[in-house]
Amino acid sequence: SPLAIRRALISVSDKTGLLDFARALHEKGTELLSTGGTAKALREAGLPVRDVAELTGFPEMMDGRVKTLHPMVHGGLLALRDNTDHQAAVREHNIAEIDLLVVNLYPFEETVAKGADYATSVENIDIGGPAMIRAAAKNHAFVAVVTDTEDYAAVLAEVEANGGTTYAFRQRLALTAYSRTAAYDTAVSAWMAKALEVEAPRYRSFAGKLAQGLRYGENPHQKAAFYTDGSARPGVATAQQWQGKELSYNNINDTDAAFELVSEFAGKGPACAIIKHANPCGVGEGATLLEAYQRAYRCDTTSAFGGIVALNQPLDKATAEEIVKIFTEVVIAPGASEEAKAVFAAKKNLRLLTTDSLADPAKGTTSFRQVAGGFLVQDSDIDSVSRESLKVVTKRAPSEAELNDLLFAWKVAKHVKSNAIVYVRDGATVGIGAGQMSRVDSTMIGARKAAEIATNEGLSESPAIGSVAASDAFFPFADGIEVLAANGVKAIIQPGGSMKDQDVIDAADRLGLAMVFTGQRHFRH
Ligand code: 5GP
Repeated sequence: SPLAIRRALISVSDKTGLLDFARALHEKGTELLSTGGTAKALREAGLPVRDVAELTGFPEMMDGRVKTLHPMVHGGLLALRDNTDHQAAVREHNIAEIDLLVVNLYPFEETVAKGADYATSVENIDIGGPAMIRAAAKNHAFVAVVTDTEDYAAVLAEVEANGGTTYAFRQRLALTAYSRTAAYDTAVSAWMAKALEVEAPRYRSFAGKLAQGLRYGENPHQKAAFYTDGSARPGVATAQQWQGKELSYNNINDTDAAFELVSEFAGKGPACAIIKHANPCGVGEGATLLEAYQRAYRCDTTSAFGGIVALNQPLDKATAEEIVKIFTEVVIAPGASEEAKAVFAAKKNLRLLTTDSLADPAKGTTSFRQVAGGFLVQDSDIDSVSRESLKVVTKRAPSEAELNDLLFAWKVAKHVKSNAIVYVRDGATVGIGAGQMSRVDSTMIGARKAAEIATNEGLSESPAIGSVAASDAFFPFADGIEVLAANGVKAIIQPGGSMKDQDVIDAADRLGLAMVFTGQRHFRH
């Protein structure tokens, strides 16, 4: 049967919702026990509260490092109510049993995110809070533990409905409690690894906060949810959604890919990327956003259907009017005008997301990838090449216009799954070959896509003729170069570094191509 809350210990750093919650508990007859700052807040609101220091017979000391670490507190949290030995100890030591523990921890994550120094960060590692949370959660057979201000309402509803907390409810709270302390210590260890510059600490976990349960995962038979990691990186996790259905698992994944790609064009003229299955099917720059969209769309009008569109500038009316001509799943941009929003309003299923800014392409995150039995951790791929660092390896050097397109193609190739070949002409992709096991296959797929543009538009020749191409990794043989040249490519950007580089360079010279090496590759799997 439900357990009444006769006594609650409240010790919270985040005092959001505290007074209303404590008052409601008080009105239901709960005795309130608190630590210094919390007790002061309650007292100032006119609520009767007993100090933990009075209970323990010890003052809070050492800058608050020791407040609740005492058998009078932990005995009250851990005592089994149906165990005669435990109950004998409770009586012998006059321990006050605690039915509800309400703790939220020192704001360690926020303190670190604000860039606090080492000592301040250390001082924000909560010790007594997690100890109490873990104790109360262990004793969930008899104790309810609340670690999140968002759960106050549920506790009151539970008491209202049942006169106390049910076992099932306390189990759920205990689960939240242990995931909270785990995430907390994960944050502490991640901070420390960073501070000490240890790339590979012995244990590593990642922590997230549930942002949203998802209807399903990649496929309808897979359960799924979306977690945020507390980082403020602009993107799908922090964007505001203006309209449309809830994002799906695939939407979130693709929108992330789209936004990260278009963020490469931060501070540049208008640019647009259209993503399908986490790969771009078209990327374009233009004099206007509308033109950038049209040029991205042109690259693969078939695949763009049901795609994700990312823009590097706020969505305007003209671009919005063009986008709604076909079915698009998601549009994400650093803002949207009122007129553009009005255009979208008619398309109920179209999701519009806006961010405050683009993501900083030079600022990395950590990427995790699961494998059976563990996970791989790496820095995200934030490297980019400058025009000056490119090494011309052929007799012919690329023209200025070719160089611009080569650098554009290189940016896009970084965001295409390997093996990636990207054909570009005049600041827009005209063919993308992605995710093939052989580089030659990607080369041929990209050429075929370019040929489709010619068919669609009734052109006399493929836009690949006179284009440039990027390859995300080196060409192991000259065959890929030969296919590119046969399809009209005039200049190539690639990392170089193959045993057969000389063969590849010779082939390029023989075919009249200009080729530059970046000295850096962009595998993406
Ligand atoms: P208050 O604002 O009530 O003075 O402090 C509340 C905070 O103190 C909570 O975040 C709680 O987790 C933390 N806390 C409670 N007991 C202890 C303790 O013994 N040591 C430390 N370091 N923190 C504690």
